[in-house]
Amino acid sequence: MIRTEIPECKTSDCRDHVAGKSKYCKVHKKIARENWKRNVMEQEAERAERYERFARIADEAYEAGLQAAKACTPNVMIVTDPRTGHAYEPVTEGPCGFAEIRFAGNTSFGHWAKKNLGARKAYGRGVYLWVSMFGQSHDRKAAYARAYAQVLRNNDIDAWASSRLD
Ligand SMILES: [Zn+2]
Repeated sequence: MIRTEIPECKTSDCRDHVAGKSKYCKVHKKIARENWKRNVMEQEAERAERYERFARIADEAYEAGLQAAKACTPNVMIVTDPRTGHAYEPVTEGPCGFAEIRFAGNTSFGHWAKKNLGARKAYGRGVYLWVSMFGQSHDRKAAYARAYAQVLRNNDIDAWASSRLD
């Protein structure tokens, strides 16, 4: 003899049988579904809010970076021909080089930055934002990266600037 027992609703003080494959009775199934939907909507709203905040922080960081790059006085480089001793036009933008802003990729900001700022996976850990502005000026690029990273840190996003001479 096959005896099928319909389990009781998961709600602790409910003695009704479950509805179909649900863990709840008909009434509580509906309530559970509404709660779940509300939860999803709340999470989506929270994410949207977080992403708006990231966009504001990125704007602020960009502005701070520009200011810092503008205010930076590169070390003027005097290049002389080692053979003749001839001095070329001084390189007023200082030495050539590269700079980037590094931060973790596996955070909410990291994911957002990959999609919205073009952050790329770095060798080693984390991701980076490449500084493509200011020609080849190492000093200006580095100043931009430092100011940018500082704004991220001010907003509790662990970030650091990295630069190197060409
Ligand atoms: Zn119930």
